[in-house]
Amino acid sequence: MDERILGALLFPTNIHRRESDPGPYAHYSSYKPHLKREFRRKCVYCRASDGLIGDEVFGVDHYLPKSKFPHLANNWLNLFYACPRCNVLKSEFVSTPELFLPSPCEHLMAQHLQYEGVDIVTHTKHGDCMTELLRLREERRRRRRDLILAALRGLLENRTELLRELTSYESRLEKEEGKRETLEVLIEETSEELERVNGRIELLIGEPVTAEP
Ligand SMILES: [Zn+2]
Repeated sequence: MDERILGALLFPTNIHRRESDPGPYAHYSSYKPHLKREFRRKCVYCRASDGLIGDEVFGVDHYLPKSKFPHLANNWLNLFYACPRCNVLKSEFVSTPELFLPSPCEHLMAQHLQYEGVDIVTHTKHGDCMTELLRLREERRRRRRDLILAALRGLLENRTELLRELTSYESRLEKEEGKRETLEVLIEETSEELERVNGRIELLIGEPVTAEP
């Protein structure tokens, strides 16, 4: 479970299959809420969640820039969800088959680059290109990622402990009839705390924390 949660911040190991076009819309900005949902609140290029800095500063990215490909300006398949830093740095870069920015719908991103803690390891020239262009190794990004990972580890430890307590209270509930009321209060309080912890994790990873498998 922890790995699944931490994995949300890594580059995907599978190709993302998009939902069908929710439009058409006359202006690409109308796609933003759909892109947010489609890409699970994360920048497709750096995997940052919009939970911490707010979705209002996240934007609609045109994979092929609208200045050079105006006919694709409102094309669902050309649109991605991106953080402000990536959006600005990517600017008018044009991906070609010879040199492209790996995208979640077309490429196995993890084959091109991957995070190892706060570091980025690149495996192809396309991964290098993206890391350089979007400055994925810059200090401010590393600092933010370091903070997020540290917070996440703390929350995950907390979560494990709360789940353990819950299981223990629930099993006692069956055996200790005399303590039913006390145990029910404890279960309620622990469940509420677990919900708060799950909510904080969701802010960091951009995805709801599903029940223990
Ligand atoms: Zn980004």
